Amino acid sequence: MLSRRQFLKLGFGAMGTVAGLSFLWEYEGLNHSIPVLLYHRIGQEDNPYTITAEHFESNVKALSQEGYTTLSLNQVQQIIQHKAVVLPEKPLIITFDDGYLDNYLYAFPLLQKYSMVASFYIITGIIGQADRLTISQIREMQAAGMDFGSHTVTHRLLGTLSIDEVKIELAESKVTLEQIIGSKVDFVAYPGGSYSSDTLQIAQEAGYMAGWSTRLGVETFKHPFTLKRIPIFHHDQTHSLSYILLKKGFIPGLLFNL
Ligand SMILES: [Zn+2]
Repeated sequence: MLSRRQFLKLGFGAMGTVAGLSFLWEYEGLNHSIPVLLYHRIGQEDNPYTITAEHFESNVKALSQEGYTTLSLNQVQQIIQHKAVVLPEKPLIITFDDGYLDNYLYAFPLLQKYSMVASFYIITGIIGQADRLTISQIREMQAAGMDFGSHTVTHRLLGTLSIDEVKIELAESKVTLEQIIGSKVDFVAYPGGSYSSDTLQIAQEAGYMAGWSTRLGVETFKHPFTLKRIPIFHHDQTHSLSYILLKKGFIPGLLFNL
């Protein structure tokens, strides 16, 4: 007799073949990997972390045309919890670190234009400062389907801090953000991609479910507190997104033309 897990694998495999457009992904059965893009700023600033709105639109337009569908954090959460989750044929995750105002001004409308969602990681100690998202902007974006996570209180590198400092950075930012968005904050993005084994333990104890690092690669969600991402930088705009991804060897299956 088949176990429930075996049954799910067989059932979902058949459903994927017949349906074509979408399939149910049973976490351990199909062992998928999902690209997670990491952006920072959208604008004209001349630094590696800022890309133009035109560059960002060329990315999301191409991804949309190629059939990629962005996942919500709720869907990511289900994957991490090993739940059988209905996924689009070409899943994609988009993240933004640092909570800049330009995310609201440029990225948010473009994401909506292409029916995409993203998650934004907020430095809670500087919410509302001149170049950062305000509380009302965060709430407006959330109401439109965007997700939010912690990027700590002060953006100090967690891997360099004392255990007590890390606890404060992770716990206080979580509480602050939960008060703003009125729902649980399950994800953290480590500033500068910095963490230690203590950081991961403290994040778990603070009630997070997962942590985004800046380790490069396509994510398989086997290690939820060191999730990999693919950063898109200013200098990348001279190349196509697919060129960058393929050159870095991340996504053999992500073959599309820009
Ligand atoms: Zn950051």
